[in-house]
Amino acid sequence: MPTIPVVRDILSANERLGEENRKLLERYHICAVNVMASPGAGKTSLILRTVAALKGRLRVGVIEGDIASRVDADRVAAAGAPVVQINTGGTCHLDAPMVGAALEQLPLAEIDLLFIENVGNLICPVEFGLGEAARIVVSSIPEGDDKPYKYPGIFAAVDAIVLNKADLAPYVAFDRPAFWQLVGGLNPTAPRFEVSCTTGEGLAPWIGWLDDLVARVRGAA
Ligand code: MG
Ligand code: ZN
Repeated sequence: MPTIPVVRDILSANERLGEENRKLLERYHICAVNVMASPGAGKTSLILRTVAALKGRLRVGVIEGDIASRVDADRVAAAGAPVVQINTGGTCHLDAPMVGAALEQLPLAEIDLLFIENVGNLICPVEFGLGEAARIVVSSIPEGDDKPYKYPGIFAAVDAIVLNKADLAPYVAFDRPAFWQLVGGLNPTAPRFEVSCTTGEGLAPWIGWLDDLVARVRGAA
């Protein structure tokens, strides 16, 4: 039965390299946030809104993880943030070695807050620590209110939950109390944010949470 030991080897190698990333980030006083979601939930849109909101206060850098293309990295670069695109070439999650290689290409001394946008996938990204200070999941109204029920692992593991596309709530049968009740059963303590990256509604509490997180990471460093 070789399967299980091989998987364990991969995960423990990932953990070691994740710790190296963590030490590097700590040395530069960078607060890294691993952004996970299914494809199309609005990870890049949330990052772009956040870059704009923090302009002049915190310097934001971004690592973009996608199976292919660099369209998201181009959008981030156009917003003025330093960005590195990782193309995983088919792998459905980022791992610590990929992020370590990307960190070598970023101006670390010029970054306060680093978003690591994971590959769109609610399953395995949560298994791979990247050296981040916090993990979040972005869910969205059009995906339906059953996502915490179908993918409990990621909702249980994260440090904050963002529900995006709040502006679409009038047009979609999405039961918000049911969604948050499911979330609460899996993860009673993670802060919750309802936002729209289209209209900008609800973003202030999210930005406040990031401010506190960055201050906490700096205080610990
Ligand atoms: Mg994206
Ligand atoms: Zn994967």
